[in-house]
Amino acid sequence: MLTQLLACTDANIKKAADCIRNGGLVAFPTETVYGLGANGLDKTAVASIFSAKQRPADNPLILHVNSIFKAEELCDFTTNAKTLAKLYWPGPLTMLLNKKPIVPDITTAKLSTVAVRMPRHPVALKLIEYSACPIAAPSANRSGKPSPTTAKHVLDDLNGRVNYILDGGSSEVGLESTVIDMTLDVPCIYRPGAVTPEEISMVLGECEVSAGVMRDIPQNAHAPSPGMRHRHYAPKAPMCLIKGKPEAIASYIRDNFQSGDCILAMEENLCLYEGLPVESMGKNAQEAAHRLFYLLRQMDERNVKRIFTETLPENGLGLAVMNRLARAASFHIVSL
Ligand code: AMP
Ligand code: MG
Repeated sequence: MLTQLLACTDANIKKAADCIRNGGLVAFPTETVYGLGANGLDKTAVASIFSAKQRPADNPLILHVNSIFKAEELCDFTTNAKTLAKLYWPGPLTMLLNKKPIVPDITTAKLSTVAVRMPRHPVALKLIEYSACPIAAPSANRSGKPSPTTAKHVLDDLNGRVNYILDGGSSEVGLESTVIDMTLDVPCIYRPGAVTPEEISMVLGECEVSAGVMRDIPQNAHAPSPGMRHRHYAPKAPMCLIKGKPEAIASYIRDNFQSGDCILAMEENLCLYEGLPVESMGKNAQEAAHRLFYLLRQMDERNVKRIFTETLPENGLGLAVMNRLARAASFHIVSL
């Protein structure tokens, strides 16, 4: 298959939408990361998403819609879901709700719930509108690799496996959406993202964060969300997270550093690593989210031997950054 990179003109978005209507695959920008899209109600098209990115069949997909009304056609949209949708849609919030029969089993990996989200990127919204169907779209990376935040990342992973890539520049948020289970008495977050547990608690009165967000779930154990069981976001080099005061972290890294290693640190702590190869994660959690997957892919390109990484406070968007870092490091975390 020939993969074509397209600028996001209206004519090109229409061309990409035609492709989706005809069962093809289109990678497109969203405000979180790039998605690999196909008609979410077409079993064969959905199957081609799984094979293109070599995604395990037990890991369900998110259906992207462009209105609450369209989401209601796919699932039992509860009162709480409506409350959150009115506040956070379009935006980086994916809700799990009981699915209606119209959604094929392959899309939800045979689960009785379906994941729905309305993205906020104008190109994604137009693509959904012109395709006139819900678009099933996981992140547009090879399974296991860091999610793509530029069209080049998508091309690196999926050249020859997707019909079109719409190039919308670099992703605004840089991390995947918050995934929250709305079918429980107390809504529970399975994947933290830019809509935070603190914000959702303020709106609904309560919100849990699943223990699996910051803890490893063994391959064969039950996971409330299949994505928690799979290896994720992983650079080629082994990675180690270090928790503690900045000075203590820096001295631990200096003691353990070997030639070929690289360090990821917050901007304000770069001065602690003079003379060592260090990359900045930015000034705050928002900048760290925006840069993280780009940095992890850079570590691959530079063939670094090991990665030492500072940690962030696990609140607000910091929880989402820490969740991705912990998984990228296979939960290899040193507390000082
Ligand atoms: P991605 O498509 O790469 O953004 O990943 C979607 C995430 O949502 C994965 O971690 C999935 O396991 C999770 N997910 C999607 N649908 C469901 C569902 N019905 N129940 C639980 N988790 C889901
Ligand atoms: Mg993904």
